Amino acid sequence: MALTSEQLQELRQRVVERRRELATELRGDAERLRGEQYGMLAGATHDAGDESVADLLADVGQAELNRDLAELRDLEIARMRLEGGSYGRCMDCSVELGFERLSANAAAVRCVACQTRYERTHAGSGRPSL
Ligand SMILES: [Zn+2]
Repeated sequence: MALTSEQLQELRQRVVERRRELATELRGDAERLRGEQYGMLAGATHDAGDESVADLLADVGQAELNRDLAELRDLEIARMRLEGGSYGRCMDCSVELGFERLSANAAAVRCVACQTRYERTHAGSGRPSL
């Protein structure tokens, strides 16, 4: 079932807002990571134990950052598809995603079946590939 113009308007609003929110979050993350790296450099004399904890924290920060960047990329695709008129269709099989799925995730670009297949075949969302 195709989306009504009201539903489309609502989803467009969500994409725009989430994008703005995420951009702010990412700026904060980048500043925080820079701060942590500076802290690590400043404390370069600490022992190996501290270092591995710092590395671990940096990895966690990186994974968070990757997840946010992946979401931002999806939102960017959603925005382009809203403009191009192809929003709301699965980018793999062209089935209508439906308002229910899109209101749960306005940046969804695939139907559940294709998304599951995509995640199985691609190392996405910072998950290990093995
Ligand atoms: Zn599909």
